[in-house]
Parts: sequence; C-alpha cells; structure tokens
Amino acid sequence: MKDIIIIGGGPAALTAALYAGRAGLDALMLEKQYEGGQIVTTNEVENYPGFRSITGPELANTMYEHAKDFGSIMKYEEVIDIKIDGDIKKVVTGVNTYESKVIILSMGAKPKKIGIDREEELTGKGVSYCATCDGGFFRKKIVAVIGGGDTAVEDALHLSRIAEKVYVIVRRDSLRANKSAQKKLFETDNIEIIWNSGVTKLNGEERLSGIEIKNNKDGKIDNLEVNGVFVAIGSDPSSELVKDLVALDKNGYIIADESCKTNVDGIFAIGDIRTKEVRQVLTAAADGAVSIYGAEKYLINH
Ligand code: NAP
Repeated sequence: MKDIIIIGGGPAALTAALYAGRAGLDALMLEKQYEGGQIVTTNEVENYPGFRSITGPELANTMYEHAKDFGSIMKYEEVIDIKIDGDIKKVVTGVNTYESKVIILSMGAKPKKIGIDREEELTGKGVSYCATCDGGFFRKKIVAVIGGGDTAVEDALHLSRIAEKVYVIVRRDSLRANKSAQKKLFETDNIEIIWNSGVTKLNGEERLSGIEIKNNKDGKIDNLEVNGVFVAIGSDPSSELVKDLVALDKNGYIIADESCKTNVDGIFAIGDIRTKEVRQVLTAAADGAVSIYGAEKYLINH
C-alpha cells in the first residue's frame, strides 16, 4: 500500500514527488509516456525563476532528477481505471493494480484541434501540434502557425529560425501572448501576421500543400501555399479517465481550488488539469507542493 500515487509526470507531478519524498512519504508516479509533460515540447523557458533561459527538456530532466534524489519512483505505465474502496484507492494500469491512500491527479492537458476536414488525415503529413518536435522537418520551407497565445508566438519564433517564412494566423486583431514575446514576434523579419482570420480548409493530396483562410471581418477567402501548419490554439484537459470519479467543470477541468482538493476525500488535482486562472510551469509546480501539504493532513486523519 502506497501513501500517495501521482498520476502524470509533468512539472506539477514532479514537484509533488519531490515534496512527498522529502516528507518521508511513500510515493509512486505513474506516467504513460515520458517525464516532463508539455514542457518537453517547449523550446525555451525563460520565466521559471532561477533559470534565466533553459530548454523545456532540460528543465524537465532537472526536475525529474531532483524528485529522484528524494526517493520518489516513476513507472512508465498508463492508468486505465481508478476504483475507490472505502479509504483505499485502487489504481489499475495495463500491467498492475496498485493501492494507495491518496491519489494526486496530474494528467495535464493536450493540444486542441482546429476541428476542420482532413485534420486527422494530414496530421504528421504537414499538420503538427508541436513546433519543437516537428519544426526540423521544415528547414527553408514555408509554414503557418495558428493561434495568438504564448504557445503560438513561441512556436512562430522557434520556426522563424528554421523555416524560410512563417505566417501567424490570428482570429482577432490582437494577440493574447505576453508583451515581451509579442515584441520579438513583431521584430522578426520572416514572420508575417495575418489578422482576423481562420483556417477553413487544408489543401493537398498525400501531404499538406496549402491552406484556405477566411477573413472574419469581410469574409474574403485566400489560399496560402504552405508546407506545414502548426496548430497552437490552446489545450484541453486530459480528464477522460476521471470524468465519473471527480467533479469537472463544463470544459472538462477538474474542479479544485488553491488547496488542490477535489470533491472526493483523499484525491487531489494539480497543474493544468485543474480549474485555475494561470497555467504556467511555475503555478503547476506550486500546486505540486500544496497538494503534498494537503495529502499529509489527510494521511494524519486517516
Ligand atoms: P491560450 O492562451 O488559450 O491561447 C490560445 C490562442 O489560440 C488565443 O490566441 C485564441 O484566440 C486562439 N484560439 C483558440 N481557439 C481557436 C480556434 N478555434 N481557432 C483559432 N484560434 C483559436 O493557449 P496557449 O497559448 O497554448 O497557452 C496556454 C497557457 O499556457 C496560457 O496560460 C499561457 O500563458 C501558458 N503558456 C505560457 C508560456 C510561457 O510563459 N513561456 C508558454 C506557453 C504557454 P483568442 O485570444 O481570440 O481566444
């Protein structure tokens, strides 16, 4: 019987594991893919205190090693079910069933789809959701980024160093990204912003060869020849596994306040998967620490 099972392996989970280990609790992390979560797909992180500039994979690896220093263990297993039996929580993976007193849900979020025809068919054939992973395939090519948030702007800046030309397609007449990133975007010569527009069609036979864009103000349709399109329009919570276990809001985020407590005693939600205003590595890490404080109190009383 474990004290705590942490499901997920991103910054929130890794911080919870570090704090759990340091508090002398027996914690197990279960991660289906790789440690680090979404930061692994981030080229540069420049707003995590203590690191002026660090790549996402380096930060993830540092956090992972730090958690391991305090004795926390990670297993690469996908959780397929969670069962509650009184105070005991059973976590079922493809290969094992584990028992625990506390569960910390930290499954994060996954990129949103645009929701247009042929998006799935052309994924990996010109359509991508990860500029850091796939940018290298577009050396000296023409690409488009869809979105106007921090992810889209960072992706565009990253791609501008690889591709010949980068279009950024923004559905409004302003960006949501932070001002410092916006400034860099506006100052980059091979980036062109197409305002008030959305992608309405993906062109090409075997591979993407272009996109149709529609101006949201005058309805004008244009076709752009591009070799790749990077979708960066936000993310959806990976909460499918727990939709019948804990309360979710209408967008699928697990309802939990700053204490990270869900509506089920002994189950906490941390990082991007929980309802919150600001989703950053820093706020995810903070949740990880807070949840262990709550978990310790729960364990004392049970
Ligand atoms: P986001 O902040 O939600 O921005 C999504 C962007 O995509 C917005 O410009 C939005 O437009 C646009 N959009 C949404 N749905 C769309 C659709 N169907 N078609 C076209 N455009 C659409 O998402 P994000 O950029 O992935 O960032 C998520 C969170 O992570 C944010 O809190 C962000 O600050 C954080 N983040 C931080 C960093 C950093 O600090 N270094 C880096 C990456 C992400 P509207 O503005 O019109 O809604």
